[in-house]
Amino acid sequence: MEHITVIGAGTMGNGIAHVFAQNGYHVNLVDVSSEALERGIETISNNLSRMISKKVITEKEKASTLKVINTTTSMKEGVAKADLVIEAATENTSLKHTIFKELDSLCPKKTILATNTSSISITQIAAATKRPDKVIGMHFMNPVPIMMLIEIINGYNTSKETTDKIMALSKKINKIPTEVNDYPGFVANRILMPMINEAIETLFQGVAGVKEIDTVMKLGMAHPMGPLQLADFIGLDVCLAILEVMYQGFKNPKYAPCPLLVNMVAAGKNGVKSSEGFYDYSASRKAEKVASQFRS
Ligand code: NAD
Repeated sequence: MEHITVIGAGTMGNGIAHVFAQNGYHVNLVDVSSEALERGIETISNNLSRMISKKVITEKEKASTLKVINTTTSMKEGVAKADLVIEAATENTSLKHTIFKELDSLCPKKTILATNTSSISITQIAAATKRPDKVIGMHFMNPVPIMMLIEIINGYNTSKETTDKIMALSKKINKIPTEVNDYPGFVANRILMPMINEAIETLFQGVAGVKEIDTVMKLGMAHPMGPLQLADFIGLDVCLAILEVMYQGFKNPKYAPCPLLVNMVAAGKNGVKSSEGFYDYSASRKAEKVASQFRS
């Protein structure tokens, strides 16, 4: 595999593009929004600069990483040579079905189609294509350049050949792939999201404040980050979408999203990416913008 196409240049898409480019693959980054593509490249550039300041990579490696990333708003152009497409667009079932139908018609026959979905059925996404044996889940963790795990999800029809190729490729980019089966939320979010939802419910019921809830979990359970801050980093809209998929998929009220989460998303408080969630990030985002202007 040489040519990797990433669909979606948001939080996850730019991280996935970064990791493949840094490992020498040719990357096409596709988004419907040219602004999202610009922001994606800016984020990759800033993250590479941070790696230089920590002496993890050199200026030369930063330049060679950026050089192999091509951006486009045309899916047709972006997938023409793809050996593997990794879809990391917005977490929405019908959107993903539409994207995979289009990918199936545009990609070469050999192309493996992977999705970074956090919770949506791989088997149903695969059913939108005529190549369900070549459809698989590659669930990267946030932030992608730092987190080691890729949860590899086998759909009902995913072939062993596809799984073997994706397991081998994941190791080549220095990640640790772990195989799981296709049920709502898979393993990672089936366990993580009920905890985040319960933390929000605890806040909603006035049991404790944001900082207190996060402090209890950080210092009491040795979690590196409290659940409310983690939700801000994941994106509250993404957390809500995952809980909805598990709630519908299992028909079990224990996965019902907390009304406070529903309200915050409706109000546009999506966490770090919108500058406000359970915490306020507007000052740090402004500082990052000034610093990046200064660097360029
Ligand atoms: P995001 O909102 O940051 O980015 C989504 C991007 O997709 C946007 O730039 C949007 O313009 C683009 N997009 C929408 N429709 C498109 C289309 N038809 N074609 C091309 N691009 C399109 O979302 P994100 O947090 O990066 O999440 C992306 C996927 O990764 C979701 O499936 C999510 O569940 C999953 N995921 C997210 C996290 C996380 O921590 N945020 C972790 C693991 C997996």
